[in-house]
Amino acid sequence: MKKRILAYGRLNDDQLAQLGQDFEVQAFPDLSSADDPAFRAALPEAHGLIGASLAITPELLDAAPKLEAIATISLGYDNYPVEALTRRGILLCNTPDVLTETTADTGFLLIMAAARRAVELADLVKRGDWQAGIGPEHFGSDVHGKTLGLIGFGRIGAAVARRGALGFGMRILYSNASPKPELDAELGAERRELDELLEASDFVCVTVPLTAETEHLIGEREFALMKPSAIFVNIARGKVVNEAALIEALEMGRIRAAGLDVFEQEPLSPESPLPHMANVVALPHIGSATHETRTAMAQRAVDNLILALRGEGPLNLVNDAAWRPA
Ligand code: NAP
Repeated sequence: MKKRILAYGRLNDDQLAQLGQDFEVQAFPDLSSADDPAFRAALPEAHGLIGASLAITPELLDAAPKLEAIATISLGYDNYPVEALTRRGILLCNTPDVLTETTADTGFLLIMAAARRAVELADLVKRGDWQAGIGPEHFGSDVHGKTLGLIGFGRIGAAVARRGALGFGMRILYSNASPKPELDAELGAERRELDELLEASDFVCVTVPLTAETEHLIGEREFALMKPSAIFVNIARGKVVNEAALIEALEMGRIRAAGLDVFEQEPLSPESPLPHMANVVALPHIGSATHETRTAMAQRAVDNLILALRGEGPLNLVNDAAWRPA
């Protein structure tokens, strides 16, 4: 009997057909909650799950005793119970690499938009309030030639740094768990302690994963260390930053502006002051959200799941300890 896959992510017809060659596929294209009755009813016979943004809880795993692999259509897996999955021998696969450049584009979009006040000034035009020449009260800050500090210097951090160094002549500082001599050589990047980076950077961009160590890595103390002219950008995960401290730093003018793709609670509550602040550019977690990249991510997840369920070893395994070759 063919193994059964529940597909709740956005897969195109070719990708569904590819899965269908070897497996029974049940698609839930509009699934919004793991409590959906049809999805719950299908779980006991599921060998594989593929999708994104569904809360996978140990309780859900109890309802899926045959589950062998989950292919998340995302890079971040901080919302998965990795230990519980590993204990049960369930493989978890993610989609690194294919979204690096697009997410770095989003980082640079936020750097540019916050520095040049693009959203605020575009709104002014939209409202019909462009009555005279723009004066110093609407001037922005230069990006080229400034110092860009990356907190986290992995794939995405390095891709943001390349844009800054090679495209905008920026000096690159980074704080990262390990040194990156090859990037030091390529980009003239300089590794610094976090505090030193915060004090010296004109732009501070967060690209570390959310882990127990990085939760609230940036808070009141860290914002106080930044220059009053600093522009803060977060394209990693909202919980890496203490959002209340960020709001206070912006309100008190301790930093100049922020560009944010991610938030402590998503979707962002309409009650949050952040999207109402003129010096904040807030995006709805669109780091990798282009047609090309989302298609590539879904394809990577499909390939991972096929390999995992065939017992051949997926390309991108998060929990190596769960891997048991056939
Ligand atoms: P990556 O290649 O694994 O890079 C992460 C970097 O962070 C690594 O260089 C790592 O150091 C460093 N690091 C980890 N923990 C650290 C700590 N406690 N202190 C200092 N440095 C630490 O990952 P990536 O592909 O660049 O992605 C980074 C994150 O971006 C993802 O985890 C995800 O949460 C987020 N993301 C967001 C979006 C979005 O839509 N906004 C899209 C994609 C990804 P080592 O090199 O020494 O291991």
